[in-house]
Amino acid sequence: MDRDAAAGGGLLDALHDLWCGAKQGLRALSWQDQDWTGWVSGDLVSWVMAFPTARQDRYLLNGRTFVSDEMYCVTPACTCLDARIIFLEVLGAPDTETGERWIEAGSFAIDVGDCRASDWQAERVSLAELRGMWSA
Ligand SMILES: [Zn+2]
Repeated sequence: MDRDAAAGGGLLDALHDLWCGAKQGLRALSWQDQDWTGWVSGDLVSWVMAFPTARQDRYLLNGRTFVSDEMYCVTPACTCLDARIIFLEVLGAPDTETGERWIEAGSFAIDVGDCRASDWQAERVSLAELRGMWSA
């Protein structure tokens, strides 16, 4: 791997590919392995739920850790371009009694056609922080 690829995220992609390769030796995860019983037509679907081996990066902001998820409309025959980006704060640690918890910190709607954001909902962060995480 060259230096430019590593600086552009290539290193993270390569590590993720290695992780997926190791996991597939045990058992490949797919959307069919997820519990879809709560989904009803019209609900947005999480990218991570549809693609459970997708790489999910963590973001540091003022000493706090966040992950993001993307929600898409998958309603059959629907032609909308609705999507929502969600940032979740990571609390706790996996090796503790309470474990790691993800709590929604903020979200906004995005039009997949023109990438225009709207309906900003800042909950555990300020609106400026939420907009900053999106532009980072
Ligand atoms: Zn739709």
